[in-house]
Amino acid sequence: MKLLLIEDERPIADVIRRGLEEAHYSVEVAYDGEEGLKMALSDSYDLLLLDLMLPGRDGWSICRALRDRRMTLPILMLTARDAVGDRVQGLEMGADDYLPKPFDFAELLARVRALLRRDRLHKTSTIRIADLEIDTGLLRVTRAGREIPLTRREYTLLEALAANEGRPLSRDVILNRVWHNDESYSNTVDVHIGLLRKKIDADRPVKLIRTVHGVGYTLKNPDGEPSE
Ligand code: CA
Repeated sequence: MKLLLIEDERPIADVIRRGLEEAHYSVEVAYDGEEGLKMALSDSYDLLLLDLMLPGRDGWSICRALRDRRMTLPILMLTARDAVGDRVQGLEMGADDYLPKPFDFAELLARVRALLRRDRLHKTSTIRIADLEIDTGLLRVTRAGREIPLTRREYTLLEALAANEGRPLSRDVILNRVWHNDESYSNTVDVHIGLLRKKIDADRPVKLIRTVHGVGYTLKNPDGEPSE
């Protein structure tokens, strides 16, 4: 589990990071809003701890930017004590929970755990295509019952293809969904499709990932037809 903390007050950030690391979470910290948003958009975190008053870009705006891009990671806002208006606004912008400062670390930890648990339950479903199974709650992929370890990016790419089974996705659509148009080199998608094919389809008689010439890629059950 990897958490992102966006908090500009270093002593507070240090206490939170140390505590979470002791609880065996991996934590990365951003000290300003712009940097924090950039990191959050990399889609490599399971939860965001978000301060509201930040240099660069405030917490509400970060919340909204993430939800506008349909990023569903749980967000725990750290708000000023008694600032009811702040909390309401944060929840309206898409935060999942809030914790008023100053807080007891045990309470922060309990809320983090509850949000991660809720998120996992909420998200769990299984996509099955031929002998491929994707557990979207545990982010676990198997073929013929054997687990296939994927990077976060490979997983997101596979899930995007699988969720659109049989429907070709263009490189632009894939770039937008998986990379959010960051680091978009013209061959980014092709390179990652190549990596994914090695893990998913190599050495298997039935190939699921198909090139759709002039369009992009699709994932489908060939249903017995000869593979490419
Ligand atoms: Ca602050």
